[in-house]
Formats: sequence, C-alpha cells, structure tokens
Amino acid sequence: MAKDFYKTLGVDKTASAAEIKKAFRKLAHEHHPDKNGNADNADKFKEINEAYQVLSNKEKRQQYDQFGSTFDGAGGNPFGGGNPFGQGNMGGFDFSGAQGAQGQDFDLGDIFGQFFGGGAPNGRARSQKGQDIQVDMEISLKEAVFGKSEVLSLRKQVVCEPCTGTGADKGTSYEDCKTCAGTGKIATTVLGTFRTQTVCPECHGQGKLIKDKCGACHGQGFNEENTDIQVEVPGGIDNGQAIRLAGQGNAGKNGSPAGDLYVTIHVKNEPNFTRQGNDLISEYDVPFTMAALGGDIQVKTIDGKVKLKIPAGTPSGKQFILRDKGVTHLRARGRGNQIVIVNIDVPTKLTKKQKQLLEELNKEFEVKKKSWF
Ligand SMILES: [Zn+2]
Ligand SMILES: [Zn+2]
Repeated sequence: MAKDFYKTLGVDKTASAAEIKKAFRKLAHEHHPDKNGNADNADKFKEINEAYQVLSNKEKRQQYDQFGSTFDGAGGNPFGGGNPFGQGNMGGFDFSGAQGAQGQDFDLGDIFGQFFGGGAPNGRARSQKGQDIQVDMEISLKEAVFGKSEVLSLRKQVVCEPCTGTGADKGTSYEDCKTCAGTGKIATTVLGTFRTQTVCPECHGQGKLIKDKCGACHGQGFNEENTDIQVEVPGGIDNGQAIRLAGQGNAGKNGSPAGDLYVTIHVKNEPNFTRQGNDLISEYDVPFTMAALGGDIQVKTIDGKVKLKIPAGTPSGKQFILRDKGVTHLRARGRGNQIVIVNIDVPTKLTKKQKQLLEELNKEFEVKKKSWF
C-alpha cells in the first residue's frame, strides 16, 4: 500500500525542512516505544522515522515527490525492507542502516542518544545486552533503619559455559554468512539513485552464522539457572525505592553485558510508627492525672524500649524528641529523630471513689477560680 510520508508526519507538501524536523521531533517523542511500551507504538515510531528519512533529505524528498508511492511498486523498498533500522525489533533497534546511508544529514543520532542513554548508536552491542530483571523485597521498618544483607534466590539467564555464550558448538563452530559475505551489512540499490546499507537480516550484523549449535544451550548462548545473589540493603532506604545491581540481570548474547537487577523495597508497616523523612513519629496516651502530676512512660523505639519523663503540667499534643532514634540517613552520617506525641487520656468512666476524689479536686479549682475574679 502506498504510504503518504507527509501525512505520517502531519505536514503540508510545501513544508519547510525546519517544519519537517519539528514535526518529526514531536512525533518521535510522542510515539517512542520506550515511553509507552507497546508494540503499536514501535510500529508507529518506525513509520515516523521512515517518513522523516525521506522528507528530511533533499534528494530523496524530490524523488519521492516525483515518483510518489511508486517505490513500493518498483520491486522493493529502498529503505531496507520498509524499515530503516534493519532488524528493527523493539528494544533492539539497530541504527547502522540509517547511519550507513551516505551523504545524509540525519540528526537521528542525538535524539536516539537521548532516548537510549548511549553515545554514538551502536545497535549491535545494545541490541545484544541482556534483559533487566525486577524483583520485590519486603523488609521490616527496623531493617529499613539499619539496613540488611540478604541472599536472594532467583531464576535467570546465565551465560552458557560450554560455548561461552556464543551459542556455537565449542564456541567456535561458525561459518561466514553467505547473504552478506561476512560483512554483516547488505547494500541495496534502487532506481540507480539510492544506495543504502542495512544490517544483514540473516546474521543480524554478525557477519557469521553458527554452523553447529551448542548442545548445552541449543544455540541460545545462555541457560536458565537458579542463582543466589547477595543484596546489601542500605540503612535509610524507603518504601518503593529500588536497589540496582549492575550486571546481575539476564545474560547478554555473544559476550555482551548482562542486564541489571532492580530490587524494589517494600517496607512493612510497624504499629505505632509513622515515617516522615528520616524521623519516626509515634503517639502515646497518658492519663490526665499523670499529665498534671508528672511521671514516666515506656516508649518503644527501633532500638528498644526507653523511659520518657512526662513533666508535671504537660499539655495534650506535646511533642518530645528522642534524638538519633529515627532512620539512618541514606547518604549521610547519623540518624533522624523519633518524635513522641503525648495525648491526654480523659477517662469516660469513673468509679465512685474516683468521682469523689475528683469532685474534691474540682472544689479546690472552683475556690481558686473565684479568687481570680
Ligand atoms: Zn549476514
Ligand atoms: Zn551453549
């Protein structure tokens, strides 16, 4: 089917180079597959790039304006099988096709560098990197305060030892790829005008193919294995934060780096403790008589119980600060505080004797009160 590249980018046929560039940037950001993570987006993204490759190039644009959609009918697409990225599967874009095309003023590089967090596009290395793994870990508040060391057991892809991750028998059983004659790239010439290079679809740019597959991994280069990984949870970590263990994810292909392991921390609720930054808040009720007369209460801290002195005449809602009884600072020395809020407990039921005593007391206050006026 004929494609309207102008329509794809949402610009007029008379659009200037700057307008085309602007439209492309906007759409590329909107439809970036990493952003919304769905396959439809990846397709849309490829379409946008395809359109931009043509319309951003003066010569190609002229050709396109002249021949319109005849490319499709002319026996093949000049842009590498309708996909400027060679293999172009999501998460493994290979830009060498676009890069390899000569004399083109593409500025795809900087955008992709931004998206993919890498410098010069090197699709080969990136596309072979192992997948990241995300796991959850539940810890207690005490463990969040002081940190902990835990061995995590998980199943992941590890590099196949017999073939050292190559997937080839004994790690050496290769032959040159016939499709690209071992170069990893294929050139396409269409209408005698365009010459583009794309990644060889047969060997995915490797230039060689496995002759005999490794028996241990069936040519995959990795095996699923149960692995124990020591995770050091730093004191001060908060609920929802993740620890990144670089290179502890799934194995990469052909000696490429492994992905990363992300351990997301979930801190269990601890009764009567509320975390506020690095401070811990707890509330205690004291009898109104103690608030008036003074006394001691037992307060639970993360380090154990402590005695808190309630001075005579403590008003309800008074805050007491227990220094350094809070959460460890994640990136600094020391700890936060524990803040104890004291609420005055007024009895709702009184025994006869208590009532008598209180009435006595009340008379005292009445006398005092009268003398004030
Ligand atoms: Zn090849
Ligand atoms: Zn193997």
